[in-house]
Amino acid sequence: MLAGAVCLSANVFAANGGGKIKPKSTNPPPKKYIDPANMDLSVKPGDDFFEYANGTWTKNNPIPGDKTSWGSFIILRDENNKNLISLLKEVSTTPGLPKGSLKQRVGDLFASGMDSVAIEKAGYNPIKADLVRINKIASLPQVIDEMVFERVNARGGALFGVGVGQDSKHPTKNIVEFRQGGTTMPDRDYYLKDDARTLKIQAAYHKYMVTLFTLTGSSAEEAEKNANTVYIIEKALATAQKSRIAMRDPNASYNKFSVADFSKTTPNLNWTVLLPALKMPGQDTVIVAQPAFFKVADAMLTSTPVDDWKVYLKWEILKGSAGSLSSDFVKANFAYSSVLSGQKVQTPRIERMSSQVDGSLGELLGQLYVEKYFTPAAKQYMVNLVNNLKATLGDRIKRVDWMSQETKDKALKKLAAFTVKIGYPDKWQNYDGVEIDRNDYAGNLKRIAVWRYNYSVSQLGKPVDKTRWGMTPPTVNAYYSPTGNEIVFPAGILQFPFFDFGADDAVNYGGIGVVIGHEMTHGFDDQGSQYDGDGTLRNWWTKADNDEFKNRTQKVVDEFNGFNPVDTMHIKGKLTLGENLADLGGINVAYEAYKKTKEGQTNPKIDGFTGDQRFFLSFAQVWRGTMRPEALAQQLTTDPHSPGKYRTDGTVVNIDAWYDAFNVKPGDKMYKAPTDRIKIW
Ligand SMILES: [Zn+2]
Repeated sequence: MLAGAVCLSANVFAANGGGKIKPKSTNPPPKKYIDPANMDLSVKPGDDFFEYANGTWTKNNPIPGDKTSWGSFIILRDENNKNLISLLKEVSTTPGLPKGSLKQRVGDLFASGMDSVAIEKAGYNPIKADLVRINKIASLPQVIDEMVFERVNARGGALFGVGVGQDSKHPTKNIVEFRQGGTTMPDRDYYLKDDARTLKIQAAYHKYMVTLFTLTGSSAEEAEKNANTVYIIEKALATAQKSRIAMRDPNASYNKFSVADFSKTTPNLNWTVLLPALKMPGQDTVIVAQPAFFKVADAMLTSTPVDDWKVYLKWEILKGSAGSLSSDFVKANFAYSSVLSGQKVQTPRIERMSSQVDGSLGELLGQLYVEKYFTPAAKQYMVNLVNNLKATLGDRIKRVDWMSQETKDKALKKLAAFTVKIGYPDKWQNYDGVEIDRNDYAGNLKRIAVWRYNYSVSQLGKPVDKTRWGMTPPTVNAYYSPTGNEIVFPAGILQFPFFDFGADDAVNYGGIGVVIGHEMTHGFDDQGSQYDGDGTLRNWWTKADNDEFKNRTQKVVDEFNGFNPVDTMHIKGKLTLGENLADLGGINVAYEAYKKTKEGQTNPKIDGFTGDQRFFLSFAQVWRGTMRPEALAQQLTTDPHSPGKYRTDGTVVNIDAWYDAFNVKPGDKMYKAPTDRIKIW
């Protein structure tokens, strides 16, 4: 993902109002696009819509042992993964591929990762030199040199985050950006909370560290001590980090410093020297997302003994490579992550490796994927659909009754400036110069990571490359980038249940249509609305309009704060606000666009449901699925997306047409009086 971009988690929709193009479906279409056999017709839709739409499917489809959730998205991802595996098996067994060719590199990376015998035999050889180097450190300057070395050689990201990104107030320019970091568990909350679930995760993390230190030669006593040392450092860093909610304010994260002034705030870290060492020379200014964090991290450099930093730096190496070393390391890594996510059984190696190739050389593998699994007609169909939805969102903005003409004009200008990317990049990333050796898995991963680092720093001083994508083509997801003002739909999401050429408009508009509307609405959510049509972080609202927008969005915050999916954990209304706004806007835009189609106007019954009913059932079907409680707890802590049930029910309750479609009345459990239904876009 590109920095700052917001994704759908995945959600799409399709269908155009004009003549339909109907090429062959990649997958055979299901007999029924809305199948009553998946629903629970004994539940009243107005009492529990998600259960009504998905209840029987849920009962009949337990979560497989090697998954943390199961439902529409994950099943589609699984099918895509199978397609990738079949491509990878083919290219990895094709003899005589020219060295350096696309197929050689993709096939040999996969083959090297599948060679479990060689990986087992290597043990932790791939990181021995790193551990020896760290053992020789004797002073604080050497600690800092090692932090630089690890970054430049893609061996870890100790203490803080740094990278090259778009300058959000000058979005055509690349700039160095510093961010808080230095911790391992997925959020600061895991270090700071002390409820039973968190304590269990802390214990698993401790055990993970002890195991890895033991596997690399520490005595039991020393490993125990090392784990405590790392934890103390990470907890101090976590305490200095901002919360995810606080980080949603893009202006608070935009702190431009001259390199000299930033160095004054971090006396142990002289950035005039360190930036060139990080291969980022010639910079006058940098962005520091959380300046207070850097003061604390810097002070820790002198308050913490050098020997403790050595342990922490070793842990950076260990955790960064555990998943790719021999089975003892992989098992320890899984034991920890299974406590976090609830996954019972390790993902098979072949699936881990296809994900690895997608994550490492995704735009090479993606070229093979789209050649076989994506039709140009699907792209054309999406272009038409996006145009329909864009026009409809424009109509809706013009009709909004709470906004002045002055702000509306600017909103429409922003909408007109959207860039749309569909399927796959026009210009592929070719990872020039990355050598892939069939017999060296660890070396391959290292070379790819170093290439990525070098590529990103090479962008400094160059204009932002707008052709780049933040997701690979097979990804079942979509995103909006506020600094690019672009909506992006990878090929992977343009499949059922989001989209199918054979489906009626209601199904496609309720699926991929809502997804498109969702991504467009991100341009006008709590964060996106702070960027203009050029992608510049700059206020374009009148004060009164902005105040009213905040009043209305607060109602969405309050609504979602009220949901309690697991334990005593509620959805964080402020963390999920942007996504919840995007869902609400998305369904409104998609429904109105659907009603402009011929089918939407006649509202025909198919398989026993009217067009309007099918639209909302399709939306609920996209979010069909269940999660393990552990995964749910993690999502509530870290993820800006609400769980699927609440995305469904929490959205439809604000849509008048949903009440009409299912005859929802006062007294039904989900019923909201018309004046309480939240209207924004
Ligand atoms: Zn989203």
